[in-house]
Amino acid sequence: MNGKKILYIEDNPQNMRLIKRLLGIEGYEVIGAADGLKGISMALREKPDLILMDIHLPGIDGIETTSRIKSMNELSHIPIIALTAAAMRGDKERIVGSGCDDYLAKPVNKDELMKKLQEYMPTTFAVTV
Ligand code: MN
Repeated sequence: MNGKKILYIEDNPQNMRLIKRLLGIEGYEVIGAADGLKGISMALREKPDLILMDIHLPGIDGIETTSRIKSMNELSHIPIIALTAAAMRGDKERIVGSGCDDYLAKPVNKDELMKKLQEYMPTTFAVTV
């Protein structure tokens, strides 16, 4: 474990399993929620270090979920990386406009994902003397 907790909001169980396994191997703790409202309550309860957000979700979509999280004082500091399917690339402006910090195309490339996670949650720390 590297001490970092990631909340993955995703309705597709196959994607959920894949990302949980992949990030688990890398030492991350991954918690999952299958829709936006469950994701928000889980974020409030668990205070994750970062959120991975599927866009197409049942109920409120990932864009609306991101907007709500970013409007909450206790959660707004948490980086959100949106995962966007090819069909939604045209929605880039809406996705960025929701307040997410970054986005990655689906299917997720492992190296790109790891790079982003390091960028938003450095697991090594610079020492100042
Ligand atoms: Mn989905």
